[in-house]
Amino acid sequence: MSESAYREMWENLDLDLEAHDGLLEVLGKFYGDIFMSQQGRLSGAEYLDFVLSEVHGLRIKEIQDAKAEGKKIIGTFCVFVPEELTLAANAVQVGLCSGADAGKEQAEQLVPRNTCALIKSFIGFKLAKLCPFTESCDMIVGETTCDGKKKAYEAFGEHVDNLYVMEVPQRKDEADRKLWKSEVLRYKDALEKLTGVEITAERLKEGIRIVNEKRRALQRLNALRAAVPTPISGRDVLLVNQISFYDDPVRFTAKINELCDEIEGRIARKEGVVSEKTPRVMLAGCPMAVPNWKLPWLVESSGAVIVGEESCIGTRNSRDLVDESGQTVEEMLDAIADRYMNIDCACFTPNDERLDNVESMAKELNADGVIQYALMFCQPYTHEAIKVEKRLSGKDIPSLAIETDYSMEDAEQLKTRVEAFLEML
Ligand code: SF4
Ligand code: SF4
Repeated sequence: MSESAYREMWENLDLDLEAHDGLLEVLGKFYGDIFMSQQGRLSGAEYLDFVLSEVHGLRIKEIQDAKAEGKKIIGTFCVFVPEELTLAANAVQVGLCSGADAGKEQAEQLVPRNTCALIKSFIGFKLAKLCPFTESCDMIVGETTCDGKKKAYEAFGEHVDNLYVMEVPQRKDEADRKLWKSEVLRYKDALEKLTGVEITAERLKEGIRIVNEKRRALQRLNALRAAVPTPISGRDVLLVNQISFYDDPVRFTAKINELCDEIEGRIARKEGVVSEKTPRVMLAGCPMAVPNWKLPWLVESSGAVIVGEESCIGTRNSRDLVDESGQTVEEMLDAIADRYMNIDCACFTPNDERLDNVESMAKELNADGVIQYALMFCQPYTHEAIKVEKRLSGKDIPSLAIETDYSMEDAEQLKTRVEAFLEML
């Protein structure tokens, strides 16, 4: 597509073209510095570069084409929204940008300043008219996870006319599971009403199959990272995880499986993206939405390699599959409800399974240490950081807890802390 056709598309989406140009310019430079400067990348990384370079271009064009064919676009902010149902309603699901300090001042007019950067970002992208995904959505799905998000949706809802909020329980007892199942049903009804498509057993089975295949590809990739030397950088896997929320799921799955084939060849030749002496670090905590690449860049440019992400833009999104044995819509809805109730988000209380998951993941991936990542003002993950640290130190796994936001102001200070941690490893 020509540059002028892109501009026309963005104009039709009512983006602020000047501010949008500025955003793309900054992102392009940031991307070049962080990703293109890496040595020994796999050739499959070309797919990642292409998707990212076209994230506001070709992908948006595809979404507009899908809309022209009558498909509906569903935007999400959290891994609790069941993509299986979205696909079964012949709709497209996309994660919405919330990883940059865009429109921060405007966002701070709607939510308190001491709100996490992710929340301010999704509000800011909307208010500053910067996100073509948000503007393409027929329905935006929020969820009652942390208090910050819950209250932010009240303010955000005044600026969009298509917000739908799912109630996510806070505990995992039988009553909570019942509540969640009823929310899954309510979402199904909302999708059917929006799309005019009936979610039949056949359609739902296919939706489950497609999303399970996507998660299997991500599981395969994550398992390969246990190899020493590690075959792929953490930065590139973060991109994979970020793209998993944007790209067409079938194309994404095929491309990630190709990447895994290439990685297997590399492992068989005992080759790595770094030497086997490089300290191996696992990240744990808050999600890193596009284009939040700060910490992985700081860690890997300090001489370590990231081998896992215990995060929603990571294994929290891919760890569990939906049971595929259900035949009726009811059985499949039960399987979906059960799968999503396994998510170990810090918004749950208690959430002890997360401690087990962090520990076992660190062991399986042969991590030398864990860096806990929390966004500033994120109550759920900063609370859990204390427990995670205690669990890991009891198992002789070194860890470092950091709190940061999207600005680069603390980059030097963070780098010093990371370097000191790596020396200790
Ligand atoms: S951390 Fe919790 S609230 Fe945030 S995306 Fe993950 S599941 Fe959703
Ligand atoms: S990072 Fe923390 S505070 Fe921010 S939306 Fe997620 S759970 Fe809520």
